[in-house]
Amino acid sequence: MMENKEELARIITAENGKPLKEAQGEITYSASFLEWFAEEARRIYGDVIPASAKDRRVLVLKQPVGVAAIITPWNFPSAMITRKVGAALAAGCTVVVKPAEDTPLSALALGELANQAGIPAGVYNVVPCSRQQTAAVGEVLCTDPLVSKISFTGSTATGKILLKHAAGTVKRVSMELGGHAPFIVFDSANVDRAVAGALASKYRNSGQTCVCTNRFLVQKGIHDEFVEKFAKAIDKELHVGNGFDAKTTQGPLINEKAVEKVEKHIKDAVSQGASIVTGGKRHSLGKNFFEPTLLTNVTTKMLCTQEETFGPLAPVIRFETEAEAVAIANAANVGLAGYFYSQDPAQIWRVAEQLEVGMVGVNEGIISSAECPFGGVKESGLGREGSKYGIDEYLEIKYVCFGGL
Ligand code: NAP
Repeated sequence: MMENKEELARIITAENGKPLKEAQGEITYSASFLEWFAEEARRIYGDVIPASAKDRRVLVLKQPVGVAAIITPWNFPSAMITRKVGAALAAGCTVVVKPAEDTPLSALALGELANQAGIPAGVYNVVPCSRQQTAAVGEVLCTDPLVSKISFTGSTATGKILLKHAAGTVKRVSMELGGHAPFIVFDSANVDRAVAGALASKYRNSGQTCVCTNRFLVQKGIHDEFVEKFAKAIDKELHVGNGFDAKTTQGPLINEKAVEKVEKHIKDAVSQGASIVTGGKRHSLGKNFFEPTLLTNVTTKMLCTQEETFGPLAPVIRFETEAEAVAIANAANVGLAGYFYSQDPAQIWRVAEQLEVGMVGVNEGIISSAECPFGGVKESGLGREGSKYGIDEYLEIKYVCFGGL
């Protein structure tokens, strides 16, 4: 089994350029969902409800929704599949997985492992397809009456298309969509911890995760110290290179379009007065490699604070009051993750409750794990994955009334 884990990690690095160590971490994360949901399968309890009429008994059964179509992105080519498939299989559903065009091998490798593990043929199905066919395949999966459930992870734009398709047959849907995570550093924060959290939250997978910080909001009293230490940490701890090189912490971006988006956000910010503290351009390695970048003097008028960059760009906005920071953080049409650093207990409660996101990291920059509910509010999606709630996405509740007793 260890051999399989290592092989799966190498496939991920080969497919999307992620450093091997991160890919190994993804495999552990990926396997944790299978383990978690295998255990949750034993706890799909129904209910017995006290009836209002003497001659009745009321039961609640939980049943699998049916065939689940699962559409996943390239950035976690293994974990985004198991987070869904683990729950679906535990609930008793069969699945049809459509992986991203860039990363079909991880999905197929999971198929081979499913065979080895004794999952019956036809339970875990994979339909890789070329990008030209993606829209057509997506439409079939979302409109075919045999499919009862759509679970999608990807961009908000694609999620909206799938939701429209799914409406025709009123399918159950789970949508894990884009984010625009704020990372707030208040004056009371422990700066060194905030810098460590910032580094992890921003530059994991070269900034290409939906929960990566997309904008930093730093209070004026701590701003200069935070920026100075953050820049030093970026220069010292991040190494751009080939994912198979043990020193590498930052692999390439997924494609040229992704590089162009980072460039566009930097150009726009600089043209409006932002300063480049470190990075700022394509890496000398060429192709899709990009320098980890830190910008200051950033304002909410700049593109990088208005939309998801999905790359190694850290823009820092300076703010004065807590209310101002919360207002900026919440001025987004999406709300997946949000982070803040503070050592003031009253402020911690206030801000944790006010942030319009599905997941909050308080003095913590990496917050995903199998036992925690993952998901967003606003246009970041519908439903939760992982945790004790994740299995509900694949279960129907059936009420059975026994009368005439
Ligand atoms: P994307 O373009 O939406 O692609 C995601 C998946 O959807 C891929 O399999 C893609 O196939 C497929 N797809 C694209 N257009 C489709 C259509 N019309 N019909 C059916 N399927 C379609 O997303 P991305 O840009 O690659 O991924 C990054 C986005 O995912 C970011 O916005 C990120 O925040 C989000 N994300 C969210 C989460 C979360 O849990 N909330 C996790 C990871 C990523 P092709 O590869 O063939 O285009």
